[in-house]
Amino acid sequence: MDMPSTSKMPVVFFGHGSPTNALEDNEATQTWYRIANTIERPGAILSISAHWFGKGIAVTDMAKPETIHDFGRSLPAPLFDLQYPAVGKPELARRVADLLAPLAVHMDQSWGLDHGTWSVLLKAYPEADIPVVQLRLDLGKPPEWHFEIGQRLRPLRQEGVLIMGTGNFVHNLSVMDWNAEFAPYDWAQRFNDYIKDSIVRNDPRPVWEYHNFGDEAALAVPTLDHFCPLLYTLGAREDTDAVRIESDYIVYKSLSMTSLVFSD
Ligand code: ZN
Repeated sequence: MDMPSTSKMPVVFFGHGSPTNALEDNEATQTWYRIANTIERPGAILSISAHWFGKGIAVTDMAKPETIHDFGRSLPAPLFDLQYPAVGKPELARRVADLLAPLAVHMDQSWGLDHGTWSVLLKAYPEADIPVVQLRLDLGKPPEWHFEIGQRLRPLRQEGVLIMGTGNFVHNLSVMDWNAEFAPYDWAQRFNDYIKDSIVRNDPRPVWEYHNFGDEAALAVPTLDHFCPLLYTLGAREDTDAVRIESDYIVYKSLSMTSLVFSD
C-alpha cells in the first residue's frame, strides 16, 4: 500500500504550538489526525518547519533522519523519549534541489526531524511509515522570496509528495500566558483573522506583506520563523485549490493554532 499517488496532493499548514501537544490528545492533535485521514495518503512528505533555519536553503539528505528534541529541559521528561522513526528520502532531497536550481540547495547530513515536524506527524501519521524530508529556512530572505520558493515546489504535488508547513500564524512566546482560560489578545485575534481572510479570498500578497497590518504585526510575528512555513504553503497553492480551515483558535493569548488544507 505504499505506492506513491499520482493525482495532485493537497498542501497542508499545521499550527503546531507547544511541543507538549505530542504527549496530549487535544483539539490540535485531533485536527492533525483528521487532516491526515481525510487527504490522499502521500508517497513522501516535504516538511517546512519553523524550527530549522540557517544561511541558505538545505534539505535533509539522510536515509534515517534522527528525531531531534529541540526544546528546553524544562519540558516534561517523556517528551525526550519520543521518537518518530520515519525514513528519509534522498531522491526527494535531490528533486527539491533540481526544482530550485540554479539556487544552491545544501544536502544536509546534520539535522533530522525537529519537533515542528515530528510533534505533528506523530499524531497525523503515527505509523511513521511515510518518508520525510525537511527543508531549512533562510530567514535572511524577505517573506515574498519564501512564497516564490513555495511556487517552485508545486510540481511535487503531482509526484505524490505532501508539502506541509508547520508553524503558527501568531507566535509570541514573550507575552504568552499559560492560563489557557484567558481570551486571546485583541491584536492576536485581529492579525490571525487578517491573515486567514486573505487566504480565504486567495489573495496571498497581504500575507507576505503582513507588515502592512500595522505596528501590531511585530507583536504577532516578532520573528519570521513560525510565520515563514505558511508562505511556502501559499506558494504551493494553485488557483484551482480551495482552502479548508481545519482549526482556528488561539491558545495562551498569543499562539494561534490555525491549521488548513489547500486542495482542489
Ligand atoms: Zn514551534
